[in-house]
Amino acid sequence: MENLRSALTQFHGQSFDVAIIGGGINGCSAAQHLAASGYKVLLVEKRDFASGATSRSGRILHCGLRFLAPKKSVSEFLFAPGTLLMKLRTASDMAVAQGELYNTIRAYLRPMDIALPIYKHAGYSGWHVDIGAALVRLMNRGRSPINYRRWKGAASPHPFIKHLVNQGDIRSVVVFTDQQFRWPERIALDACLNAEDMGAVIRNYTEVVKLEKSGKTSWKLTLADDEHKATIDARYVLNLAGIEIDRTNRMVPGLDNIPPRVRAMKGVHVLIRLPEEFRGHGIAGENSEGEHIFCLPWGEYHYLGPTETFYDGHPDEVTPLDEDINFIIREAQALLPSLPIKDAKVEMAWAGARPITFDPNRAKGKRLPFSIFHDMVDQGARNLLAVTWGIIVNHRQTARRVTQKIKGVLGAAGPGKTINYSPREAPVLTPTSSAADIERAVRHFLTAEHATSAVDILCRRTPLFWDKAVTPEFLDKIVDTIGNILHWSDQRRQAEVDSFADYVWRNHRVEL
Ligand SMILES: Cc1cc2nc3c(=O)[nH]c(=O)nc-3n(C[C@H](O)[C@H](O)[C@H](O)COP(=O)(O)OP(=O)(O)OC[C@H]3O[C@@H](n4cnc5c(N)ncnc54)[C@H](O)[C@@H]3O)c2cc1C
Repeated sequence: MENLRSALTQFHGQSFDVAIIGGGINGCSAAQHLAASGYKVLLVEKRDFASGATSRSGRILHCGLRFLAPKKSVSEFLFAPGTLLMKLRTASDMAVAQGELYNTIRAYLRPMDIALPIYKHAGYSGWHVDIGAALVRLMNRGRSPINYRRWKGAASPHPFIKHLVNQGDIRSVVVFTDQQFRWPERIALDACLNAEDMGAVIRNYTEVVKLEKSGKTSWKLTLADDEHKATIDARYVLNLAGIEIDRTNRMVPGLDNIPPRVRAMKGVHVLIRLPEEFRGHGIAGENSEGEHIFCLPWGEYHYLGPTETFYDGHPDEVTPLDEDINFIIREAQALLPSLPIKDAKVEMAWAGARPITFDPNRAKGKRLPFSIFHDMVDQGARNLLAVTWGIIVNHRQTARRVTQKIKGVLGAAGPGKTINYSPREAPVLTPTSSAADIERAVRHFLTAEHATSAVDILCRRTPLFWDKAVTPEFLDKIVDTIGNILHWSDQRRQAEVDSFADYVWRNHRVEL
């Protein structure tokens, strides 16, 4: 037996209310909210769920403060009140989202203490940030702790401050608590598995290869996996294909030349180990290109990043390159000159491409607001909606807006169901688990969570790879267990070990 998946052909000829293309955080959350509203939903993901940008981000659950900062000076808000309003709305959305996630999935988050130095040349001063923090606290209404503090000059006891460049130019230091997504893959998985509980059909490793209109408002989608093809009908199509949103829209006959909606911007992060005194603490600064640079805690380690470069390579091959890693290390060392950064071992790296909203006047795309809806009716394609730049923080808000929009078009659905936002129960798997516990967990991931490989299990169904807990011996145990369940030959088992090693080297610079 090679796999436990149902054959794709069983769906051939079926009809759905909504077909969702892309199983990142936005596709998974939309599936959950639409299924809860009673719609018959299909979610298809061409690789594994949450394996795109969703698992390659900076993992920050922003409290909202950062979005209130002006570009150059606070006076610019006087001349652009619309920008100020939009920033206030964004900060409020972030504050509310952080509070909601903190109170429903705290187990998938981790608090971190972030310091923000305010230099003399900044277009705002400490008391401006005090006002921003008071606003964020008001918007958050105590749902999650912010612990905002400010020190004059460089006097803060925060461990990074004495290592910062240009000490004499520091006017103030602000420190606050932000949350970190410890396990964004699991947040997406829990959402799509809950959608499945509520009747949705969810399929990973299944690609939409053809998208055609069928009548005035309906759609015909051709799906393909390794073995089969199937055609299904849908009344509404949600294009949540991340950086492949344009490619997906342009599959539709007649839409092959439409203007772009998305701008893929690559971002790389690099994990290193810093001395113990920095654990749990992070710092935000600016790089030589005027972009944000972070050094954030990750257990015993810290990650540095991100980069910001236009990406036009293959969508499945967004990987960290030497030039990306060298750039980050150089910039972080310039920000924190007395820390041992440039000679530190690169423990891990990762790269993702942000699906930013395209703007012909901005080379790096339109950064705000988030979650822009593109109703393709303006291109003559009814009931086809794409969403760009929906970030992880606001995935539930995006899914609720999408659901409202679809309700307005499709009307009432079947009986509603109650969403379960709680962390989903799954057997615990650790490197020290007994053989019986490993068997129980692996069987669960293969049969109940759509995993098909060691990468699916170790990099997304569990946080083990990201926690740096995967050793060659543990990998062998996992592969043997999968092999026993799926009756793999020795050769197939060796190929799986090699495939895992190849994946983590290409995507994470981890040598196993
Ligand atoms: C470097 C970086 C830093 C970031 N930092 C943060 C942060 O700190 N906080 C935060 O909240 N957000 C952050 N983000 C943004 C966030 O990660 C993304 O906006 C979010 O994950 C996008 O989710 P998505 O579901 O829209 O896209 P994705 O996760 O990319 O999912 C789209 C999916 O569609 C699939 N697909 C494409 N074409 C097809 C097809 N034809 N058929 C089937 N499936 C298809 C792809 O395989 C992919 O899995 C960051 C992103 C990057 C890259």
